[in-house]
Amino acid sequence: METTPRLPDEHLAKAKELAAGQRSGKNCKLCYNRGYQGTDQNNMLVLCPKCVDTDTVGKQWREYVRDTPALTEMYGDYFDEDEEDTEDADES
Ligand SMILES: [Zn+2]
Repeated sequence: METTPRLPDEHLAKAKELAAGQRSGKNCKLCYNRGYQGTDQNNMLVLCPKCVDTDTVGKQWREYVRDTPALTEMYGDYFDEDEEDTEDADES
């Protein structure tokens, strides 16, 4: 059984930031407008599926992990699901 390392709190803060950035802005009882419902056993953010664009946050998160050497070291390619050669234009 492989175990996933626990996410350091400093990076959890970043995940919350990403979630908040992708909220639809609607009043949401599920997450109290936080964009997330809590954290899982690995200290990973549990996104609110109701008001957050989870696909986009997931993508941004994987980019963040890739760009953060400490996380890349911890998780390796854990978050790399589909390695696609996309050049989608949403770099903002
Ligand atoms: Zn919500």
